[in-house]
Amino acid sequence: MSSVTRFAPSPNGLLHVGHALSAIIAHDVARKNGGRFLLRIEDIDIERRRPEFVTAIFEDLNWLGLTWEEPVLVQSEHFSEYLAAADRLIQMGLLYPCFATRSEIAAAADQEKTDPDGAPRYPGLWRGASAETVGARMAAGEAPALRLNMDGALKALKEKRGDAPLTFVEVAEDGTQQTMTADPERWGDAVIVRKDVPASYHLSVVVDDARQGVTHVTRGQDLLAATDLQRLLQELLDLPQPVYSHHRLIKWSDGRKLSKSNQDMGLRMLREEGASADDIRRVIFS
Ligand code: GLU
Repeated sequence: MSSVTRFAPSPNGLLHVGHALSAIIAHDVARKNGGRFLLRIEDIDIERRRPEFVTAIFEDLNWLGLTWEEPVLVQSEHFSEYLAAADRLIQMGLLYPCFATRSEIAAAADQEKTDPDGAPRYPGLWRGASAETVGARMAAGEAPALRLNMDGALKALKEKRGDAPLTFVEVAEDGTQQTMTADPERWGDAVIVRKDVPASYHLSVVVDDARQGVTHVTRGQDLLAATDLQRLLQELLDLPQPVYSHHRLIKWSDGRKLSKSNQDMGLRMLREEGASADDIRRVIFS
């Protein structure tokens, strides 16, 4: 079967060899079976995105010899669609407004409980808040985040699917497939619409993967846990499920993660130092 794959970088820094691995795997999977390779600019974080990083993404991928379909989807041009998906969840009674600040959450959270990103698990501060309390904050001009009522979402999932477990198919580098069980509960009442922008990473990814007909999501292992929540959103929103490949991460030999901000193994820097695209392939696949 021919695949539709995508590379979906956030333009808040320069790409490094870890991104090259993501992009090349996605590209090569599509090219191997006559599929389509898409590029998506995930720039909903409008405080951190920079136009020069978008230009750098195009330059670096071109240099790597990758080609992608035009037009490139730019997420910040599609906020109304993310809000429409959020609205469906609101109609299902699964989102609620939350005005809590980061420090209020940290103060009220159980120190033992963190979400897979390492943030304190949301202690439910605004779950069940009255319409008056919410209305008063809105009237004061405050914007809430919208959080998923995880218990409600799991109940809705059960009504829909009975006891069938929530799963996804993980495809290894050698092509073998494994069915994995998703555990979205560990995310707690996750933010689905942020306070500062009308979307969130998880919501925009599932909406766009569906809209673009992505059949095979390839990305780093650091996003493996995100798949649990994204599978839940796909089910609640009746979106098709792609298969997944979460590839190994490239790290320093002492195990440290590469960082965009430190320009660790940055593609532009390596290019300026005289490396070739073949050198990059050699480094990431050796
Ligand atoms: N935009 C995300 C990132 O740069 C990747 C999203 C994904 O591949 O699902 O980390």
